[in-house]
Amino acid sequence: MKIYVVGIGPGGLAFMTPQAKAAIESSQVVVGYTVYVDLVKELTLGKEVLSTPMKKEVDRCRLALESALDNKTVAFVCSGDAGVYGMAGIMLQVAENHPEVEIEIVPGITAACSGAALLGAPLIHDFAVISLSDLLTTWELIEKRLRLSAEADMSVVLYNPKSKKRCDYIDRAVKIMSEFKSMDTPAGYVKNIGRDGQKVVICTMKDLINNDDIDMFTTAFVGNSTTEIINGKMVTPRGYKNV
Ligand code: SAH
Repeated sequence: MKIYVVGIGPGGLAFMTPQAKAAIESSQVVVGYTVYVDLVKELTLGKEVLSTPMKKEVDRCRLALESALDNKTVAFVCSGDAGVYGMAGIMLQVAENHPEVEIEIVPGITAACSGAALLGAPLIHDFAVISLSDLLTTWELIEKRLRLSAEADMSVVLYNPKSKKRCDYIDRAVKIMSEFKSMDTPAGYVKNIGRDGQKVVICTMKDLINNDDIDMFTTAFVGNSTTEIINGKMVTPRGYKNV
């Protein structure tokens, strides 16, 4: 009667913590969005695998809960970290009336961290993480967060920068941030981190506009006013002197 909500990191096994791997190995049932279950398929042999398509998040939580109530140990897998735009919160909500089911959240490497490492060190100082998906948040609130974090001169990480239906959201986001950030601010984006087709690009904030390369498997980064490019890496200084 246990559910592990497991952040598997951005890609395959190499990015997973030993704790996440052990949680999946000790489970009889693995639940998750098809793409993520596929990323860990080496670990799911002989286990019951329940996957549901995208946008069926609550159904997926119910599936996990039903299996746990059936006295099974369940690994509910999410990409990156389970608590960053992941399923940890909704799983705890769905299981609210079943305190007998133990729920353990297992952390993973979120795209902000795995992507930052590929770009250099863009997030060394204070930064904001903002999702451009307005499925669960109003666009007005997203705009407000973009504007205020830009005004506060934070580096910004943009999750869900674009989808087929929302193809101009990152363009709109850049225009809002340009009220407080120069269009020449160092920026970058990373696609398919840890997966086939990984691509790392360092550019400036204006290059994020009208950029067909950016899709829903991309995480975009914009520096603060001190961010620079050093030997092809994006670096936000933390203020150490004498280097
Ligand atoms: N829980 C996940 C985030 C899920 S929201 C995490 O902690 O990373 C989905 C968004 O995350 C995507 O639109 C993209 O912006 C980002 N993302 C997740 N995995 C990624 C990967 N492997 N490569 C690039 N971006 C990724």
